[in-house]
Amino acid sequence: EPLLHAVDLHKSFGPTPALAGASMDLAAGEVVAIMGPSGSGKSTLLHCTAGIVAPDSGRIVYRGRELSAMSDAARSALRRSEFGFVFQFGQLVPELTCLENVALPLRLDGHKRREAERRATGWLDRLEVSDVAHKRPGEISGGQGQRVAVARALVTGPRVVFADEPTGALDSLNGERVMKLLTEAARDTGAAVVLVTHEPRVAAYSDREIVVRDGRTREMELTGR
Ligand code: ADP
Ligand code: ADP
Repeated sequence: EPLLHAVDLHKSFGPTPALAGASMDLAAGEVVAIMGPSGSGKSTLLHCTAGIVAPDSGRIVYRGRELSAMSDAARSALRRSEFGFVFQFGQLVPELTCLENVALPLRLDGHKRREAERRATGWLDRLEVSDVAHKRPGEISGGQGQRVAVARALVTGPRVVFADEPTGALDSLNGERVMKLLTEAARDTGAAVVLVTHEPRVAAYSDREIVVRDGRTREMELTGR
């Protein structure tokens, strides 16, 4: 049984549906890339499977639990304890240092400052951004910021990391560095990754690609990866 099972999702925000029959499975520890042109429904698919947006119809089952059958509180508790998120930009709290940003999810989970910062320090080191621990997000580069964001997504030990165009604001060198560090760290911790990207070079870090067109999904046949 897959970790996450989404079947025949439909979602409309206006006259043209954003999702019109999208399905995907995610196995534990797997890295899946959602590809497709701009406006095809990639982000909506990610938001639905992450329990952020409710589909109009279809089923999403995460570890045997139907997301639509859960209360809002239960769904947000699930997101906090089992999921990590990385977005394109603007996700770090500007008033906090990078160390405090990475420690924040643990602090919100009730961990003491010392323990939270000890674990956050380990993750900053792991993502090769120890040097910015005491800087604020406005004082670091885009590539450093995304690596801090990855550290923050992984610090709670999630089973799934949802990453929406995590390299979209970076040049290709920094983008590949973020992808390499993200996928290596996810593999080591056993976290699965759902990655939205329109860049083939970024999708190349996945085990499997799903293509979305006009709100419908189709699996790519991959050879030699
Ligand atoms: P992609 O990630 O592939 O670029 P999206 O899932 O962001 O595509 O968007 C799919 C379609 O749904 C687009 O036409 C977009 O404008 C629309 N859409 C997505 N989210 C919203 C929203 N919150 N409100 C209104 N329209 C939305
Ligand atoms: P990386 O390639 O590791 O992402 P850079 O080589 O771009 O980082 O940056 C090197 C140093 O320059 C960093 O320590 C950072 O503090 C500083 N720096 C880079 N970009 C910016 C920026 N946009 N604003 C402030 N400082 C920056």
